[in-house]
Amino acid sequence: MKSANILAAAAVSALLAACSQPQTPDDTSAPAPETDTEPRVVNVYSARHYRSDAAVYEAFTQATGIEINLIEANGDQLIERVRADGARSPADVIVTVDAARLHRAEEAGLFAQTEFSEFVPAVPANLVDPDGYWIGFAKRARVIAYSSSRVQPGEIETYEDLADPRWDDRICVRQSGNAYNQSLLASIVARLGEDEAEAWAAGIVDNMARPPQGGDIAQIQGVAAGDCDVAITNHYYYALMANSGEAANRAAAGAVTLFFPNQDSSGAHVNISGAGIAANAPHPEEAREFIAFLLTPDAQRMFAEMTNEIPVVEGVEWDNPTLEAMMPFTGDSRNVSELGDHNATAQRIFDRVGWQ
Ligand code: FE
Repeated sequence: MKSANILAAAAVSALLAACSQPQTPDDTSAPAPETDTEPRVVNVYSARHYRSDAAVYEAFTQATGIEINLIEANGDQLIERVRADGARSPADVIVTVDAARLHRAEEAGLFAQTEFSEFVPAVPANLVDPDGYWIGFAKRARVIAYSSSRVQPGEIETYEDLADPRWDDRICVRQSGNAYNQSLLASIVARLGEDEAEAWAAGIVDNMARPPQGGDIAQIQGVAAGDCDVAITNHYYYALMANSGEAANRAAAGAVTLFFPNQDSSGAHVNISGAGIAANAPHPEEAREFIAFLLTPDAQRMFAEMTNEIPVVEGVEWDNPTLEAMMPFTGDSRNVSELGDHNATAQRIFDRVGWQ
């Protein structure tokens, strides 16, 4: 194919040289060699639906010339779809949030084992799958928001504190079917073992101010409205509210204090947004370029500035005063793959303690 094109190109230049008419560079009378016109593409299956991602994808295409075919679904549907398509799956890259979900995709055989360090900058080892199936490209912490008027600084220091009877009827937290809570409990199983994790979860259920309902934003709103005094939330929801166009959201964020627990012990619970190359990727080279791009200073900056996620590459510059105010903090240093290892245990505990 290649030599045929070279011959064709040679024939075209001979023709041009013989021709007395001036030729414009964009002359289309000669058929262009096929390999030059075939666009490079990458099929990205993403469970993220953040504003930053569209901007990152656009910048990727601009930098590399590789077009992105984006297939979006929620995390579990996405995994199911790639699994059902099997060897015929067109997926090149699978992008999702929560290490437990990445672990599930890994267990289902959806990822190709990859030597990420060959083509991406250094990412902390605890945010990369030890088996090389996926890599984290942005971080989030699951933290505590408490009422600035009804809770004093220092009253809470750890996640463990929240199970104490003094917080009876004072906690807002979402349902256990949510991946964020499953991974938080999985991290406690990893740290303290199943029995202590179960005692903790039972304590939280005892202390709930209302049946679990709504997303993380609804928990912060619950504190602001006086339904509860303490909420468990991912850090970026607070930032979203603090910078919201809606005055009510800004007021709710203004009524709470965001607190990163376990700073003197295990560190705050950390999870990731991550990606891996699909096992049957038709465009593995483009997939590598795509993942490498997620870890460029440009993309890392966009995650920090547009979704308030924490960059995973050291020394990247970004401008986001709300996020800056949360830094630095000590995060759990265990490998996030452990969240997947203990996910089933966490779900069983939730069932046993009656956390809806
Ligand atoms: Fe979220």
